[in-house]
Amino acid sequence: MLERTRATIDLEAIVSNWKVLDELSGAAETAAVVKANAYGHGAPEVSSRLSRAGCTSFFTATVNEALVVRKTLGADPIVYVFNGAMGDDLAAAATNNLTPVINSLSQLQAWRASTLSSSQAVVLHIDTGMNRLGIGMQDIAEAKALLTEISVSIVMSHFACADEPDHPMNDEQRRQFDQITKEWPGATRSLSNSAGLGLLDCAYDLVRPGIALYGGGSPLPTKRPLQPAMTVEAPILTVFDVPAGANTGYGATKRFDTPRRLATVGIGYADGLPRSLSNQGFAYIGGERCEVVGRISMDLTTLDVTNVSAEVQPGVAAEFIGRYADLEQQAAAAGTLGYELLTGIGPRVERVWHG
Ligand SMILES: *Cc1c(COP(=O)(O)O)cnc(C)c1O
Repeated sequence: MLERTRATIDLEAIVSNWKVLDELSGAAETAAVVKANAYGHGAPEVSSRLSRAGCTSFFTATVNEALVVRKTLGADPIVYVFNGAMGDDLAAAATNNLTPVINSLSQLQAWRASTLSSSQAVVLHIDTGMNRLGIGMQDIAEAKALLTEISVSIVMSHFACADEPDHPMNDEQRRQFDQITKEWPGATRSLSNSAGLGLLDCAYDLVRPGIALYGGGSPLPTKRPLQPAMTVEAPILTVFDVPAGANTGYGATKRFDTPRRLATVGIGYADGLPRSLSNQGFAYIGGERCEVVGRISMDLTTLDVTNVSAEVQPGVAAEFIGRYADLEQQAAAAGTLGYELLTGIGPRVERVWHG
């Protein structure tokens, strides 16, 4: 019996995925990206479990996220901040031994003016063509001039199109990256996120997988399959029959031509089940697929269970993400990606960790 809508997180699956990716990345170090509360899986739980498994480098997006990881893991692991740090956050980063990434000349100037510059080497993010974040190629000379007395520990960049292996941007960015890393010969080179691990010879010295740790993203040529880490289930609240001609839900957007058996479950868009899954999404009950019918509302979703032969009654679980309900397929049905679906699972959903 499932009383509450729940996200069950399998920490063993995340460790297994990290090991599989570590194997795939060859000699490169495999870090863990735990931003956005470890893509919704719980940054303290995920980072401490991965730390025990041997991971020593963790990437977050913000200083606040990094502080959570630092507090959980103690002094040793390296905790990076992708977005860098400004103002008071720079002081917090220095006090807590965090490593903000330098993404622009202005971040580099602020770093030089802070106490961080006396104690730490810098991580430089170079924009090799995505045009989103990072020091532009045209600013390299100026960056070098600002770095005369500061050493560079990592030179990183980020792919725009790694999930499309044949996209010409991948080779172009790799070429730019090879060019730019020659400027800092001793530095650790890092280019690949999860999808980059599917491209030839892009692991360099350090890889930064996020979504693949959690079992999502585009397929990768791993020896063992990646396992889904999060299962999202909601309890059936009520089961009822409707005659031919009946509608269901707000706006009466679904009309049934034949008599149907429906089950309404306790999950809605306030839990992070996107409203765009209305009449598009699916769930699994006892391993059998059923469709979302009508509009998803704030707290409720209705399923057509007419053809489900497994037991359907209040308290039975309907799985929306997990072993049966594939994350990326559900995300595609919502017109989005696994990233957005995972990070959108809301705080009302109870989280339970295993392993
Ligand atoms: C989020 C992020 C990653 C991880 O990306 P995935 O696609 O989840 O593997 C790696 N590098 C940077 C710069 C990021 O922002």
